[in-house]
Amino acid sequence: MGSCIFCKIVDGDAPATKIYEDDDVLAFLDIRPIMRGHTLVIPKKHATELEDLPADMGTKVFRVGHGLALAMRRSDLDADGANLVINDGKSAFQTVPHVHLHVIPRRSGDKLRFAKGFVLRRGGDAEATATAIKAGMDRLESEHL
Ligand code: 5GP
Ligand code: ZN
Repeated sequence: MGSCIFCKIVDGDAPATKIYEDDDVLAFLDIRPIMRGHTLVIPKKHATELEDLPADMGTKVFRVGHGLALAMRRSDLDADGANLVINDGKSAFQTVPHVHLHVIPRRSGDKLRFAKGFVLRRGGDAEATATAIKAGMDRLESEHL
């Protein structure tokens, strides 16, 4: 889809801090994170809403989100939980019309930080954050060897 910002990120025509990529799925940092490490997982092939998303693609997107949530627990983000959320459709506050799964790392006692992040939506050092999550992914992978 020519005008879709997430398709542009997939095609390399718009910048993003990538966390993970395979043939079907891309994960990158949210530009306005609620919490440090807030990541979006998308199908590479455009689908506006869940209505348009093949079920097997939904499975692939969730699989990556699942892995990221585990990686965040094994990273310097010190997460011990995560919110995995899809806002499906305008009525559900979907603002970017390309299906995306939010993976938002959480830590015990972070309620106030989360509320502040929800309002401020400020990014930090994206490269350092990406490095931390990737290190968590490496740790996760080493557990499964
Ligand atoms: P929604 O409300 O549609 O579920 O969330 C869309 C998310 O996409 C928001 O959290 C917003 O910050 C993020 N976002 C919007 N435009 C861009 C962009 O160009 N790059 C990145 N990395 N994230 C974006
Ligand atoms: Zn798109």
